[in-house]
Amino acid sequence: ENNEEEEEGGSSQNSNYDNSSVVAKHYNQLQEKGLAERFNSKIFYLRNFNNWVKSMLISDYLEKIKDSIRFGSPLRVLDMCCGKGGDLLKWQKGNITYLICTDIASISIEQCRARYEKITNNDPPDRKSFHAEFFTADSTRDRLRERYSDPSIELNLVSCQFAFHYCFESPKQAEMMLKNVSECLRVGGYFIGTIPDAKDIIKRQRAAQTDSFGNDIFQIKFISDSNDLPIFGSKYNFGLDGVVDCPEFLVHFPSFVKLAKKFSLKLIEAVRFEDYFPKKIGRGRSLIEKMQAVERYGLNGNRNLTRSNEEEYKHAKDFLL
Ligand code: SAM
Repeated sequence: ENNEEEEEGGSSQNSNYDNSSVVAKHYNQLQEKGLAERFNSKIFYLRNFNNWVKSMLISDYLEKIKDSIRFGSPLRVLDMCCGKGGDLLKWQKGNITYLICTDIASISIEQCRARYEKITNNDPPDRKSFHAEFFTADSTRDRLRERYSDPSIELNLVSCQFAFHYCFESPKQAEMMLKNVSECLRVGGYFIGTIPDAKDIIKRQRAAQTDSFGNDIFQIKFISDSNDLPIFGSKYNFGLDGVVDCPEFLVHFPSFVKLAKKFSLKLIEAVRFEDYFPKKIGRGRSLIEKMQAVERYGLNGNRNLTRSNEEEYKHAKDFLL
């Protein structure tokens, strides 16, 4: 939560560390897989679960914001490291007014823009469900504000899903990322995100007693010396069912909280997914059931699909697209 009027400036000087080009290349190369291919993938359920967590998190904070602003006021969001726009439908369903999408991978940004055009295509031209801008940038090195079409924009929410950990390559990059989060956020605005749990990764490495470990779904290989892990730059390679194979960094959570404070951001909530699920399932059950509809009715919707569950099925497919 951004709780102060002014923030201290972070350094924007270039760093000697360089991982960003490898990460950009990796995500640019990722193919857009069709729904059929994803449906048959080993990580189909994991992806759905992650999507459900993001949906709950996003809707929770949009609700908090709507409760705190005047009815009819604009609701503006930055989706930092947005990738191909996996959260666009969540922003549309959350009835936001304006979205800024940015990512280091230029091909992903173009796919994100195309997806936005597709989902807002049927909106009447004078009543678009939400307006958006898109640009390629390294959030750990570039000052995003300078690239906004209106640098004086005031954001209600900054969201960084499954990506904040890339900035823990160096203190300078973490500072720039947090400066980017903080500097356009309104007082009382929120920063939300999802990251791997460094403590859990280290626990698994210790249990495996080797620097390469995992299962048939994920693989981790430590690049840094696992017996002498630095606060910044603790590097490992992460592989996920052949979908992701990319260098990442452990986030030392106490240092993250401390650094965020420097940029006027106060921690209000940090929860592991396994604890988040029981907390949110009450409100989130219908969404998860809708997502499961695709499994129940088959990919083409021709298995036991009746008029009454047609709507449910359509929603689930939209969600997965
Ligand atoms: N947020 C999206 C989602 O939840 O579907 C994408 C998540 S994907 C796991 C991580 C994204 O972070 C990739 O699109 C990658 O290009 C982006 N990324 C990594 N490092 C970045 C950086 N330094 N600046 C901007 N984007 C970055």
